Amino acid sequence: MLALDDIRHEFPILDRTIDGRQLIYLDSAATSQTPRCVVDAITYMYFRHKANVHRGVHTISQEATDRMENARERVRQWLNAESSDEIVFTRGTTEGINLVASSMGDTLYNGDEIILTVMEHHSNIVPWQLLQRHKRLRLRVVPIDEHGALNLQAYEDMFTEATRFVALTHVSNVLGTVNPVKEMIAIAHRHGVPVLIDGAQAAPHMAIDVRDLDCDFYTLSSHKMYGPAGVGVLYGKRRWLEKMPPYQGGGEMIGNVTWERTTFAELPFKFEAGTPDFVGIAAFGAALDFIDRVGLERIAAHEHELLTAATQGLMEIDGMRIFGTTPDKGAVISFLVGDASSYDVGLLLDKLGVAVRTGHHCAQPLMQHLGVTGTVRASFAVYNTLDEVNAFVAAVKRVTSILLR
Ligand code: PMP
Repeated sequence: MLALDDIRHEFPILDRTIDGRQLIYLDSAATSQTPRCVVDAITYMYFRHKANVHRGVHTISQEATDRMENARERVRQWLNAESSDEIVFTRGTTEGINLVASSMGDTLYNGDEIILTVMEHHSNIVPWQLLQRHKRLRLRVVPIDEHGALNLQAYEDMFTEATRFVALTHVSNVLGTVNPVKEMIAIAHRHGVPVLIDGAQAAPHMAIDVRDLDCDFYTLSSHKMYGPAGVGVLYGKRRWLEKMPPYQGGGEMIGNVTWERTTFAELPFKFEAGTPDFVGIAAFGAALDFIDRVGLERIAAHEHELLTAATQGLMEIDGMRIFGTTPDKGAVISFLVGDASSYDVGLLLDKLGVAVRTGHHCAQPLMQHLGVTGTVRASFAVYNTLDEVNAFVAAVKRVTSILLR
């Protein structure tokens, strides 16, 4: 097991300085940093095993294929899916949701309803809105209370004869709320409605068991899980994936092609048109090994400690407003101080070496609901320390005292 103290050495970027100050990276919800072992896996793949996958008889092609398919099996175990046929590699969460919306869209008709929540990321809003170009679909939106918890009664009351699909985030990238997805999936299933869970912010921080959740689809992004960018996973129950038409056409996804008729490949290849990012996929396997060596439970406990310290520290600042105050939040904290703009706070924090996210966080409907145009968001990962949190709180105090003078 990798000791928490040794972890920082795995991330050379954390040694950087910004304007002469030590970098404090608090933007891991946007993308996490990448440990040496993952970058080494990329280098190794490029230097030793680079050949196109699934189609060569030669040795290197076979090796590359094995590495990609081993990663698929690794992801299957990670998510506790029944079969690796249910693991589709994508470019990320966004592509996974677009794939499902596009393929499922074929089965929707005028008047059908889709349930989303007010805290969705744009990537779980816009793909559904795109379907509205061709069909009169109604998007119904589950509201939240003042702490940022979903109103489960309102959710249950939303189901009608016309409800065809539910798509919701597991953890909010703004509020940190961890939604009771298992319960919500069970409610949807009682109405015969399938559910997609956007796991972009959950998968880096908690064990995901798709069979226990009984979700129909689950999406995640490698780059938020210490892995490379450009790789993601869509888990889908076999019975849905088998029924769904392909999302894109091209090489890899076909059985046989003639001018008259094309048949499609078996799962999961039916949904993986073109040469996949086999290097990134193999390296994502190395990222999962890294998380395992640290231990997901230890990561979660460490992040929780950082979040608690940050929350307590920030609350001492006059005029502090924290958005999202449910118990057992994920590792993000969104806030505003007085009428200081999130942009100004972020810019000045950067001058002190502190990297945070500012703005609408790709969740503009949530911002409208909160009555703000943006927030400052700090997010934590395994490599952050309590010293960094204390320095961050001190920096926020300093910056806001200047801005609100
Ligand atoms: N959903 C949520 C909740 C997110 O936080 C993000 C990333 N900010 C996404 C979806 C989109 O992920 P990606 O850009 O990796 O596709």
